[in-house]
Amino acid sequence: MNHKEVWKNVLTFLEKDLSKGEIATFFGSAEITDLQEDSARIVCPSRLALEKLRTHYAPNLAEAFRTVGGRDYQLSFEVKPLENNLPQEPGTFFHHTPSNGLSGSYNFDSFVVGLSNQLAVSVAQAVVEQPGALHNPLFIYSGVGLGKTHLLHAVGNSVQEKSPNARIIYASAERFTTEFIRSIQSQQTAASFRRKFRGVDLLLIDDVQFFASRTASQEEFFNTFNELFLAGKQVVLAADRHPAEFKNVEQRLISRFAGGMITDIREPDLDMRLQILHRKAAAQQTEVSEDVLLALAQQLEGSIRQLEGTLHQLLAISQAQKAPPTEELLKAVLRTAPPAKTFIAPQDIIGSVCRAYQITSEQLCSSKRSREIVFPRQIAAYLIRQINQASLNQIGELLGGKDHSTILYGLEKIEKNLIGDQILKNQVESIRGEILGKNR
Ligand code: ADP
Ligand code: MG
Repeated sequence: MNHKEVWKNVLTFLEKDLSKGEIATFFGSAEITDLQEDSARIVCPSRLALEKLRTHYAPNLAEAFRTVGGRDYQLSFEVKPLENNLPQEPGTFFHHTPSNGLSGSYNFDSFVVGLSNQLAVSVAQAVVEQPGALHNPLFIYSGVGLGKTHLLHAVGNSVQEKSPNARIIYASAERFTTEFIRSIQSQQTAASFRRKFRGVDLLLIDDVQFFASRTASQEEFFNTFNELFLAGKQVVLAADRHPAEFKNVEQRLISRFAGGMITDIREPDLDMRLQILHRKAAAQQTEVSEDVLLALAQQLEGSIRQLEGTLHQLLAISQAQKAPPTEELLKAVLRTAPPAKTFIAPQDIIGSVCRAYQITSEQLCSSKRSREIVFPRQIAAYLIRQINQASLNQIGELLGGKDHSTILYGLEKIEKNLIGDQILKNQVESIRGEILGKNR
């Protein structure tokens, strides 16, 4: 047996005592890196998984190895090096930017359509059918967590699928601004910035409200927009409010935003919330009873992100406790959810992240760039952002004086990984659960 086969057999053996979800969560991305006569080295996706395997699951693993290999194995563990995890150096900025910023799993297929978003979806689909022709620009607005970002990616992915050669960029206004500010350092970078953003067939700009008060980048965006618009290229924008409600944005830009089609997404009704929960549970291949899903849908109105997050918390806790996701458990999870808009001291968030990854807050806030530190630092940034809506600069300050573009890079990386990485999602939800649970 080679080490891959041994690991496969070990996992099969573990199914005897552990749930599928538990195995996927903690063992899913782990593997054997080194297999000797009587020892094996296991590489884990994160420090959290490593700790779980080394402590909680040690007896199960020992037994599994003994059964599969026919003798006792000395087991050792390490954390898998994360690729591409280091903040970038200024000069290399452009080379490392992801090609188009699109996340494949945010598509129309995974987007539930209901009364609250059907107009936005149909307009978005019309844009996919005839980019640049019908609704230009398309401006989508809504409160947080209602699907704007998902929809923007869905448009990008569908256009890319229909026209593989189409040049598409998805970027948040913050990303646009950061890249712009970096670009004005030299003529060469400025030219490359212009080429990048003005050479596209479809430009998707998210969280446009962040253009507020950044005059130079507003100007640059205005010019980018005009050039694309005149060339008949499609622009799709998303923001947390109607263009008329922008305060620090120039009037001429507001008129541009409003010159095409404006559509909003409203909060989902009960029926739609339930449908979304069914979809999300099925996507995780987990059985959750109709009663539990209904109870959850009834309890949480508003943000779909929160609905999804609570479901993930429920499933993570149910896996950890090896208990089915019952209404009881759901009640316990909901009890830990804070009332909307609670402010939680960032130090508490940092503390919980440090505990989860077993590092000190001095390490987290240091200038160390090793993966073991950078990754938790990015998670902390993500959670501070999510829970307290802190600005990039504030987060940078809290994490030991980091540059706002370093913070942005980390946030984008975590957000991107969260879309496809169930294990990471579970980790983040359980840390979030701990933070929120402590602060009520
Ligand atoms: P926003 O950009 O409006 O804050 P997002 O697009 O980030 O919201 O959505 C938050 C989460 O909710 C994402 O995980 C997204 O996939 C999910 N979501 C939002 N709307 C829907 C929907 N209609 N169907 C399925 N999932 C949705
Ligand atoms: Mg968004």
